Amino acid sequence: MPQRPYIVGNWKMHGTRAMLSEARAIDRAAQRHMKVEVAIAPPYTLIHPVHREAEQIGVGAQDCHYEEGGAHTGDISAAMIADAGAKFVILGHSERRENHAETDALVKAKGEAALATGLRVILCCGESGDIRSAGDAVEHVTQQIRASLPDGAADLEDLHERITIAYEPIWAIGTGDTATTADIAEMHAAIRALLVELYGAELGGEVRILYGGSVKPDNAGEILGTAEVGGALVGGASLTADSFMGIALAAGETAEG
Ligand code: PEP
Repeated sequence: MPQRPYIVGNWKMHGTRAMLSEARAIDRAAQRHMKVEVAIAPPYTLIHPVHREAEQIGVGAQDCHYEEGGAHTGDISAAMIADAGAKFVILGHSERRENHAETDALVKAKGEAALATGLRVILCCGESGDIRSAGDAVEHVTQQIRASLPDGAADLEDLHERITIAYEPIWAIGTGDTATTADIAEMHAAIRALLVELYGAELGGEVRILYGGSVKPDNAGEILGTAEVGGALVGGASLTADSFMGIALAAGETAEG
């Protein structure tokens, strides 16, 4: 059965309690767009407040540690974010990989901890501008996914609910540049082929592959209408209900065909 488009907002390090009004507005609007699955990943401090108020949208985190607990000052475990109300976690975002030297192996360990805790995982991947210019984007991204996917995913009957891939070309994040629909289609087809190779046609064929990188209401229709694009991971444009739900609306129209 085709999945609903999945539109996920990554609030990054933005948001104090004053932003709860935007989360409420997003939640209310999402109740009118049930053909689209809408979720936001606010900073840790807002997970529980958003969870308490949200009736429709999913709430998630932007990272977690791979251990259950221990002497890890400043870190937070999968069980802790789940306890706060998170249903999913974004892992391997390029800003974590770059700013915190996260390796594929570390991302994989975090994914295993998240799945063991019952969380859904949004696994991010993407190439730098240099890698794309060198013509190595597809190989780089598929290798990154292979090395970052959690072990044990193949045993999950609800794999398509538990794992989502987000393709985010690094050079498109927060820059206003987006990949061409031809490049998005090529990359998403390669990711789909990898998922089918790893998990079989039935399970691997259902995992949603999101696109991320400067998605806005005015380009969302074209991007979301591209083959194998199952939704969007949205940074800047997810910070207001107006722009974020403009993207969700475009997703709903695309889904209706
Ligand atoms: C992101 O960082 O996940 C992202 C896609 O950001 P933006 O939409 O601002 O490019």
